[in-house]
Amino acid sequence: PTDQEDPDPRKKTLVVLGTGWGSVSLLKKLDTENYNVIVVSPRNYFLFTPLLPSCTTGTIEHRSIMEPVRNFLRHKKATVKFYEAEATKIDYEKKIVYISDDSEVKGTVSRTEVPFDMLVVGVGAENATFGIPGVRENASFLKEVGDAQQIRKRIMDCCETAIFKDQSPEEKRRLLHMVVVGGGPTGVEFAGELQDFFENDLRKWMPELQNNFHVTLVEALPNVLPMFSKNLIDYTEQTFKEETIEIRTKTMVKNVAETYIEAEYTDASGKKVLEKIPYGLLVWATGNAVRPVVKDLMNQIPAQKDSRRGLLVNEYLVVKGSEDIWAVGDCAIANYAPTAQVASQEGAFLARLFNQMAKTEEIEGELSLLSDEQAKAPNQEARDGIFGQIKDLQKRLRRVKQMGPFEYSHQGSLAYIGSEKAVADISWLTGNLATGGQLTYLFWRSAYLSMCFSTRNRVLVITDWIKAKMFGRDVSRE
Ligand code: FAD
Ligand code: NAD
Repeated sequence: PTDQEDPDPRKKTLVVLGTGWGSVSLLKKLDTENYNVIVVSPRNYFLFTPLLPSCTTGTIEHRSIMEPVRNFLRHKKATVKFYEAEATKIDYEKKIVYISDDSEVKGTVSRTEVPFDMLVVGVGAENATFGIPGVRENASFLKEVGDAQQIRKRIMDCCETAIFKDQSPEEKRRLLHMVVVGGGPTGVEFAGELQDFFENDLRKWMPELQNNFHVTLVEALPNVLPMFSKNLIDYTEQTFKEETIEIRTKTMVKNVAETYIEAEYTDASGKKVLEKIPYGLLVWATGNAVRPVVKDLMNQIPAQKDSRRGLLVNEYLVVKGSEDIWAVGDCAIANYAPTAQVASQEGAFLARLFNQMAKTEEIEGELSLLSDEQAKAPNQEARDGIFGQIKDLQKRLRRVKQMGPFEYSHQGSLAYIGSEKAVADISWLTGNLATGGQLTYLFWRSAYLSMCFSTRNRVLVITDWIKAKMFGRDVSRE
């Protein structure tokens, strides 16, 4: 890579927001020689989210699933600039992104602007709270590394505080009541990991916890994991019963206080009941909401006015009603579930599209040069020669331009449900395979291992699994 500071004026400036599944998959496959590429994200690493629930209990150390963006950007053919900052506003008309360094250390400049010719918005989503009071103040989310660290610390704090001298039995029960709100895959996987932690380690290390440690999963809908096949939902609910994880379906949390939640359910007589449920740890996993920077962009584009869940995109991932802005992943609405699988396929698609667009421009440039040359050619023979070259180039151009729209290919859904069991809905050529159990767990492990970002990550994750098996999880509170 060259270390030139200024952008090359012959190339367009492509700004990519975010370093998650969508953006990183784009950057991996993008031919960076074609553009001045600038990446802006408050996170200078990629996070392999599927294994994040395992970091809450120390089955996996969080650094094992982080990959510094510098690590792969330095291998790109042309320099890619990275700014650790948050995009606070995108000015659609002026084609400027305003960025702000929100980290602890700030220089004399911590806010500035980045102009773009092309922009990819891959900022993901934030945690949905549906405006329920007390969630942000009292609950832990499970989206980022910091969240997993906070949960890990809080689990141990609850355990140690529960066995503090003279603690009342009632307070002990409260502190050891681990409540998870949201029965989507995040909530289910976390509940499973937490119960494993208790069964495999805490029970042995802290026998005093014995009869009071209790995990409850609260879900508003009639069942957990709505995106999985019916038999896998039943299998998960049965496995949770065996693991003694309590599932409270058709129960909607309405309010969150410091030591209890208020949840509404309908009793046998059809009456709505508001129940107070005390907790020590509360993990909130009720899905995604639109980030403010995305909402603001949507307000600037009339075609986005009716969208509630994110940026509407067309089949080429162009933000509808805009020019030169694309969106990928959880912040883009393209009729697919907000998953890593979708985000990474979208990112890879955009890389191909941008590589192809650059090639198209290159060929069109060559064609216009040749036409000029042809016009100035001294005789018919020279003109015929150039005509042949033009014909070849036009053929190449047609081939290059033949890129179809984005099509998502669903490989399947996988989730860990505790006690070394997993569920999988896998798409085969011949149809669907819905399977659950310990063999599926081995498949889950090997699938996620193969999907890890780098060999370094893979080695670290395997080492963590071996360490946890041999020595137990580390129960020290950092
Ligand atoms: P993200 O990966 O969230 O990345 C967004 C990026 O944007 C981040 O780098 C963030 O720092 C950055 N950013 C945020 N705000 C700004 C801003 N203002 N300016 C610039 N950058 C910004 N999906 C699966 O398919 N399989 C799974 O097993 C799976 N497991 C999951 C487990 C957990 C615990 C969670 C939380 C999610 C899981 N998912 C899974 C969902 C998957 O992680 C998301 O769908 C995926 O991360 C979406 O990718 P993305 O690139 O849109 O967003
Ligand atoms: P989700 O949207 O899948 O599930 C959230 C759940 O919370 C819903 O079932 C909803 O009914 C429930 N809920 C909402 N408000 C509630 C309330 N007040 N009280 C009780 N329950 C309430 O969210 P998620 O699990 O965080 O997943 C987000 C996305 O990430 C999904 O697309 C998911 O597929 C993906 N993901 C996939 C995996 C995997 O494949 N293993 C793991 C994690 C996340």
